[in-house]
Amino acid sequence: MGQHVRVAVVGSGFGGLGAAVRLRREGITDFVVLERAGSVGGTWRDNSYPGCACDVPSHLYSFSFAPNPDWPRVFSGQRHIRAYLERIADAFGLRPHLRLHHEVRLMRWDNDALHWEIETSRGNFTAEVVVSATGPLSDPRIPEVPGLAGFPGKVFHSARWDHDYELRGKRVAVIGTGASAIQIVPAIQREAARLTLFQRTPPWVMPRADRAISTAERRLHRALPFTGTVRRKLLWGIRELQVQAFTKRPNELGLVEALAKANIAKAIKDPELRAVLTPSYRIGCKRILLSSSYYPALAQPNVDVIASGLAEVRGSTLVAADGTECEADAVIFGTGFHVTDMPIAERVVGADGRTLAETWRNGMESLRGATAAGFPNWMTIIGPNTGLGNSSMILMIEAQLAYMADYLRQLDGLGAVGGRAALAARPAAVRAWNHRVQERMRRTVWNTGGCTSWYLDANGRNTTIWPGTTTEFRRATRRVDLSEYEVIRAAGPHTDVAGCAGGSGTREAVR
Ligand code: NAP
Repeated sequence: MGQHVRVAVVGSGFGGLGAAVRLRREGITDFVVLERAGSVGGTWRDNSYPGCACDVPSHLYSFSFAPNPDWPRVFSGQRHIRAYLERIADAFGLRPHLRLHHEVRLMRWDNDALHWEIETSRGNFTAEVVVSATGPLSDPRIPEVPGLAGFPGKVFHSARWDHDYELRGKRVAVIGTGASAIQIVPAIQREAARLTLFQRTPPWVMPRADRAISTAERRLHRALPFTGTVRRKLLWGIRELQVQAFTKRPNELGLVEALAKANIAKAIKDPELRAVLTPSYRIGCKRILLSSSYYPALAQPNVDVIASGLAEVRGSTLVAADGTECEADAVIFGTGFHVTDMPIAERVVGADGRTLAETWRNGMESLRGATAAGFPNWMTIIGPNTGLGNSSMILMIEAQLAYMADYLRQLDGLGAVGGRAALAARPAAVRAWNHRVQERMRRTVWNTGGCTSWYLDANGRNTTIWPGTTTEFRRATRRVDLSEYEVIRAAGPHTDVAGCAGGSGTREAVR
């Protein structure tokens, strides 16, 4: 059944490349990184829309083990972040491990062999451990709009930008007002003959204090690397303090709301448009967006804001839910991603023959954001409840990499090299972890702020965000607590076979 490896990493964005670096640092070289696309970079490869940049400062939105003294801007653009990830692949010797154009079609746990069977578009693998780093922002979501298939013009999603399509002189409709759309609108407003924005819910947008990082600063960071570390620590510390308002004291965010309202008033003089653009929910409930060019762009004479979602398409006429109509040559969907219904989950078949998607049909649930009951030796990077509302995801990814490293060490300790043992998250431990997470979630702004966001799943449960500081998460994932796992041993010829669902491995409790 194809090549056997100790670890198969799925995805080569920040999570997958970070996992690969960590594996090598742990002395593990028997691994592959399966990537469906033709290059590394994940969401930073796929999102190349005009204006795409990160709204976390680059000195924090980068790996702690690979500081970049040469970030060109405080908030660097997609091109530079993607190039950074390409450099990581080279600098850490990851290329030989990369299997590009290998789309994972199915992963199935074999309870007898105690390994994963992995089918890809370019051949099969077996792996003792799977590290799934497919990311929450990888599969675009386009809403089902009646009549869309009959639209005669151009249609694409923000994460699948068609750079060959000329927007100049066209009537362009942008659907959605999330982090992607608010960067696209100012970047294309001058080019488009007419730009119509379909806003279902207004976002809170704060000014973006971006600037070029001076040559002197860069030189300093290069000559004295600790200065880059200090810069990073400051950026991190501020966000650790800020998050308390999101998680514990949402009422304190009223002051921030006043600043955001002033930001609207500064650029939008028309009181009607101002009212349309002013959210009615607590700031922070949806991601706070950063832009100093969004509102000025909306105030331009070639821009219309329709304060309603796109409901129907009739030929080249777009019809909003409130009945407003507009004509368009192109429709750009900035409508987000499949986050709470992680598509890879349909391709993962666990110990009892059920897919992860079936197991998670009432909502995603994992142990410490990593492992899931019924899926031995399978873990996610950026799993359930590991997202952040205000800081750098790279901090969470690195915490999860520490957990991954300890997981592999624990397997070594159990004499598992060669696939002789596996760890299975105990359902009770998964339940207890999620109970704690959801209890803490109750008073957060994401649950109490009066909005609907992609943080919430179909049942209204917040299965994406971590309701605490990054320090707390790092502490919770520093080590694998073996009492939260069952050890499954490969059944030898003289071993008693004990109730391991769907196979002949034996289970033992570790306390
Ligand atoms: P998103 O935040 O999920 O936003 C989707 C938008 O589409 C929302 O405004 C939603 O409205 C709207 N929408 C959905 N169906 C619609 C319809 N039928 N008509 C009109 N509007 C509709 O997606 P995103 O903007 O791609 O951002 C996703 C995440 O990616 C962000 O939260 C962030 O984590 C990341 N991101 C970061 C950056 C950055 O760092 N600057 C940039 C881009 C993306 P409702 O609000 O009413 O649901």
